[in-house]
Amino acid sequence: MPCSSLAEKQPASANTLAARLARLGLRTDADHVLHLPLRYEDETRITALCDAQPGIAAQFEVEVIDSEIAYRPRRQLLARVRDASGDNKHAGSSQVLDGPLGGGRREAVSAAGAVLFLRFLNFYPSQQKALQAGARLRIFGEVHTGYLGPEIIHPRFHVVASDETLPQRLTPVYPTTAGLGQATLRRLIARALARTDMSDTLSPALRERLQLPEFSDAIQQLHNPPPEIAQEALESRHHPAWRRVQFDELLAQQLSLRRAYSARRARGAPPLVATTVLSSALLASLPFRLTGAQQRAWTEIANDLGQPHPMQRLLQGDVGSGKTVVAALAMLQAVEAGHQAALMAPTEILAEQHYRKLVTWLQPLGLDVAWLTGSLKKREKEAVIAKVGAGETAIVIGTHALIEDKVEFSRLGLAIVDEQHRFGVRQRLALKEKGLFAHQLAMSATPIPRTLAMSYYADLDVSVLDELPPGRSPVTTKLVSEARRDQIVARVHEACRAGRQAYWVCPLIEENGVSAEANVSVANLKRSGRSQNAVLQLKTAEETFARLTADLPDLCVGLVHGRLKSDEKAAVMAAFVRNEIDVLVATTVIEVGVDVPNASLMVIEHAERFGLAQLHQLRGRVGRGTAQSACILLYAQPLGELARARLKVVFESTDGFEIAREDLRLRGPGEFIGARQSGLPLLRYADLEDAALVEQARGVAEDMLREEPQRAEAHLKRWLGGREELLKA
Ligand code: ADP
Ligand code: MG
Repeated sequence: MPCSSLAEKQPASANTLAARLARLGLRTDADHVLHLPLRYEDETRITALCDAQPGIAAQFEVEVIDSEIAYRPRRQLLARVRDASGDNKHAGSSQVLDGPLGGGRREAVSAAGAVLFLRFLNFYPSQQKALQAGARLRIFGEVHTGYLGPEIIHPRFHVVASDETLPQRLTPVYPTTAGLGQATLRRLIARALARTDMSDTLSPALRERLQLPEFSDAIQQLHNPPPEIAQEALESRHHPAWRRVQFDELLAQQLSLRRAYSARRARGAPPLVATTVLSSALLASLPFRLTGAQQRAWTEIANDLGQPHPMQRLLQGDVGSGKTVVAALAMLQAVEAGHQAALMAPTEILAEQHYRKLVTWLQPLGLDVAWLTGSLKKREKEAVIAKVGAGETAIVIGTHALIEDKVEFSRLGLAIVDEQHRFGVRQRLALKEKGLFAHQLAMSATPIPRTLAMSYYADLDVSVLDELPPGRSPVTTKLVSEARRDQIVARVHEACRAGRQAYWVCPLIEENGVSAEANVSVANLKRSGRSQNAVLQLKTAEETFARLTADLPDLCVGLVHGRLKSDEKAAVMAAFVRNEIDVLVATTVIEVGVDVPNASLMVIEHAERFGLAQLHQLRGRVGRGTAQSACILLYAQPLGELARARLKVVFESTDGFEIAREDLRLRGPGEFIGARQSGLPLLRYADLEDAALVEQARGVAEDMLREEPQRAEAHLKRWLGGREELLKA
């Protein structure tokens, strides 16, 4: 932290110090103890200037030759220093120079190996004073070749006392925030280390079994590593001391999630005992039989629903794996037991698809299916809300309008949320309140690798649909350079002339690689800070639409995007379903749930801008019928290495779980963590790919909660402090 010495000179009242610490999440002593170094600096040794390696930080002991304030191009403090190494003949001849920026200087520097410049772009008068000619300094930093010769920008330095010895320990460098210096942090952490109870939350037997060191030893080693420590293992975080911390962190996460699970389980819920009258009738009326995976998931759900405590289950299944029918069966069980069931989807398009499907399935069974979204006219909405409140409607489908304050269910037994991760925390909390005593089923088509699921869904039971319904023809994926766009347009033309339909997906506007639209519901769009991008994306969509309309004059080209009013959107989708539109230009609003079996071709422009999971989702829109389907990923040259690697994954695999695993490998877990948004403790030290450690932590958490609850309590307190409430969303 080159500026740390400056920052510390700033007056910091207790208040602002506390505020800065809070920004780092440092409130309690335990927080400080667990604030572990990013890296270490070795100040136990002094390097000779002539041995300095460019780009490698080291400590030097030097004498100031001279210093001055220069204005080149801006005000800065520049000091010239030397040490005893190298050839001092020239360096010592400072009288031939007229200051560091003087005329004869460059020649002198190039001749003298052991002269170094220290450059400060920000500085205090006290620092200028410390850099007087003749002052002896210990400096730490990376030497670079500057304009004047070798230099260090903003070195850490102090004036060395005559009897000063070298530190015996590596110097920790902590993650910090503006205005909070390393020295302050070190002091506060040392104080916390001295007065915090460091007793071990793992029993000696458990430590023995897991081969983990004691907590206090591990922590001391990480904060104050002795120089003989295996530095490589320390830096790469494979040292046993790190391992212990990583395990502890995962354990805390598992403990808190499992405890939240038990707490919810302890609440009562109406047992929804199946009569199977309705579910059998539905199964009999379907033109297909459930796959083995659907059957299994349905059995698990039916079992849960019959229990007197709320189901907390996630139904995970790749696009097209048939989650909707499983949801329908679950809703029927609720109705059979005399309760209501609600299904909430994150977008209106998706909700409407569910609604249409469920109407065709359930109306023939004599059930009324209600539809509730924000875009209904006020009177219609009130009528639906009244019917729901009076219990006249057993099944309600909708968007987040379902969880608005005015909606009161008379006897909600089951709440199903599709693509739950796309709802905000606030909405999820609202749903939780509405369905406090109801059974809950979340559905997700985002395949999450097993270790992540274990870690992030440790508070849920998971059913997986790992089998696609039979008779699907696999989608062929092609990677095509943008330069060959004309050929692709010709291909679209050909497919549509043969009676098929196509999607043309517009490029995302890059915003840290995040879709401007993916997470924003239509209703939220105006309020959202991302609306700027949504506008941009709309523009791109309209341009693409205009271009394709011109390129394909004999076809009907449609356009759907998030900014259309919902009835306009519905009209476009309906026309596409009826095959009145040949080519549908779309933004990512069609990402999930859209089901048009006759659409057999998808073109995705600027595929390199999409997330892997998103590409997989999009591709899942085709290959839903019997025709051979294709997905064409158009990419713009030049393609970066990571982008190439990622597109290759989607190209080579059609297995959502495989893709998710690769995505995790290529990009780290941020993407997936984002999928569950806040409300979960982010892992600072542990690696989610460390399946073995995650699994161990999960096992230990279960045992601990059962057998050693006081240890579990102590462990949670240490790691989560008062923040556990946050985890409940
Ligand atoms: P998703 O899991 O992506 O939500 P859907 O529930 O939309 O998938 O199902 C995709 C399509 O497969 C729908 O048209 C649905 O009717 C059909 N389907 C579901 N289950 C089966 C099955 N067992 N056999 C054949 N088709 C099925
Ligand atoms: Mg679906």
